[in-house]
Amino acid sequence: MTDHLAVADDASGIVLVNPPPPEGKTVNREGFGGLGVVTAGGGGFVYPSQRLAEAAGLLRAEGYEVLGLDFVLRAGSARRAMRRRGMFHAAVVHVSVNNLEGDLDAARDVRDRVPGGRLVVTGVGLGAHAAMIEERCAGALVDAGVTGYGAALRVLDKDADPGAPDDWTDSCWETMPLASSRRLPIYHGRGCIHGCDYCPYVIATGRRHVLRSPDRTAREFAAQVARHRPKRVVFRDPVFGLDEQGTLELLARIGGLGRRERARFEIETRPELLTAEMLEALSSSGCAEIKLGVETLEPAALLASGRVSDESEAGRYAEVVEAALASAHAHGLKVRPYVMLGMAGSTPAGHRDTCERVGRWAEPDVKVVSYPQGGAPGVVG
Ligand code: SF4
Repeated sequence: MTDHLAVADDASGIVLVNPPPPEGKTVNREGFGGLGVVTAGGGGFVYPSQRLAEAAGLLRAEGYEVLGLDFVLRAGSARRAMRRRGMFHAAVVHVSVNNLEGDLDAARDVRDRVPGGRLVVTGVGLGAHAAMIEERCAGALVDAGVTGYGAALRVLDKDADPGAPDDWTDSCWETMPLASSRRLPIYHGRGCIHGCDYCPYVIATGRRHVLRSPDRTAREFAAQVARHRPKRVVFRDPVFGLDEQGTLELLARIGGLGRRERARFEIETRPELLTAEMLEALSSSGCAEIKLGVETLEPAALLASGRVSDESEAGRYAEVVEAALASAHAHGLKVRPYVMLGMAGSTPAGHRDTCERVGRWAEPDVKVVSYPQGGAPGVVG
């Protein structure tokens, strides 16, 4: 189907590209922490390209032939496929603001393979880089939406509004590869309504909480597990459980799925949401791990960063965290707490207190990030 696309005669299909990383580095374009994280060394941690898998789902549902080339997870087969195939009707290239020059060079190479067709560069935080994108990859359309559907719609020259979340097509993991760890990403809700000023997740997924219905998410969970048999499903929601009632319904549905539709899963959330009811539901539906954004236990830093809204909440926070950890243990759930030291507002005494309390926790997998000067970077956007 090519009715929306002006194309070269020998072109076929729409190509979706996760570009190669720079030599000796890993680019995790789906990583929210650094808005498309670049780390030293090859073979580092990478989430599968959900943005492109979503675009693929929509384009296939519209009847287009789609080729996914992932130069991060499947570099060899991507290079071979690129050599074999000549021209394409159109292309979507996933870029990271942290590797933008290199990614735009790759996009320019792809542009040469879509003569007369549309090229969309898509990624988090691109709105501020439109001039650079035009300079380095003239004519490329820019999509900075929080899903992959906007890029697919732009390729088809349609309004980039993806519509109601329950109508979004399933991610197509036949087109984009899962990593060898076979962890399959999925969303129930995107975005977050909280105001933590260091948080890049809201740049990546939005400041509105956009939810699918429990039925819709459970249906895709079951379908993806039956199709791909992942080792684990990873809920990428920045704050799983923000909508408590809907989340409990979702977990009840997952718990009731058939044997071939179920998989262990992990979530990420904040401590206040781990009520006894939520932990019970997580435990009985197959949750394997909770990534817990503790951030800090210091009331002054909690207040200065906007993590909590008032002094009374800040004063209770450490107890809430430790009660959630104890309750999670009692439910047999593994927790991986994330702690930041040296945030704005931190004092030497508060720092010591946080270190002592965290040192007493039973969790073997506490992840601590230290900001020795100036605190965690505030994120504007
Ligand atoms: S609760 Fe989490 S996702 Fe939401 S703004 Fe705070 S750090 Fe970001």
